[in-house]
Amino acid sequence: MVNGLSVDVEDWFQVGAFENVIDRGTWDSLSDRVERNVEQILDLFAACEVQATFFTLGWVAERHGPLMRRIVDAGHELASHGWDHARVFTLGKEAFARDVERARKVLEDASGVAITGYRAPSFSIDQRTPWAYAVLAEQGYAYSSSVAPITHDHYGWRDAPRFAFRPLAWSSLVEVPVTTAQFAGKRLAAGGGGFFRVMPYAFSRWAIRQVNTQDQRPAVFYFHPWEIDPAQPRVAGAPLRSKLRHYTNLDVMAEKLEQLIREFEWGRMDLLAHREAQHAVELAA
Ligand SMILES: [Zn+2]
Repeated sequence: MVNGLSVDVEDWFQVGAFENVIDRGTWDSLSDRVERNVEQILDLFAACEVQATFFTLGWVAERHGPLMRRIVDAGHELASHGWDHARVFTLGKEAFARDVERARKVLEDASGVAITGYRAPSFSIDQRTPWAYAVLAEQGYAYSSSVAPITHDHYGWRDAPRFAFRPLAWSSLVEVPVTTAQFAGKRLAAGGGGFFRVMPYAFSRWAIRQVNTQDQRPAVFYFHPWEIDPAQPRVAGAPLRSKLRHYTNLDVMAEKLEQLIREFEWGRMDLLAHREAQHAVELAA
């Protein structure tokens, strides 16, 4: 079973948890750490001989063109994480269309390859954004991995399918949700990010094994470049809960990741979406 490995490429000041504390207008004045962190991830992936998908902000691609090239040259997939991490349900249809178009153009110009995958910032495609998939399909995207089929304080589309689905009757576009595990009749977030960092490694191992063997489906896992960067600047004024989540276990993340990468089989999201398309359920309109 080849699981999907993905990196949401954004810098430490662009995360959803800090968006009310750090103004977008100040981003260019903040310490740029995304390049060195992505380089470290490229080294880790090379050492483990694994390929993955880098869902990258257009804002980052505009400032790090050669890095986009290095991602693609190493055999990874470059995909879109939108322009500047504005969540889809805050945008509306027209603004969302402009956001993804602008991001794709910059990503394609920087890398020289077609962008066919999309991940919404903070998994922000849900029941509030019924127009989002039509925009993605019209712009030529083949797949999206933008749904967290759980309830969470910041995000979640609780009733969405746990595995691949086709959101549109007229398009082959496939949505591949981030991984959840079933326990005692409940869905648990098990796709990475803060959960992976904060919870014991054994929980993630159990969850991915359960998905692979009981559900017989691939897992979809994600993390961020800032999660392997214990030296990143600390954000003052953020809510305590956000700070606890953001800064816990940054120092052990790289090691934990390597263990996960070596323990399971991993590959690019575009290839996974293509394989999963044959199992995709139609989403009832
Ligand atoms: Zn993100």
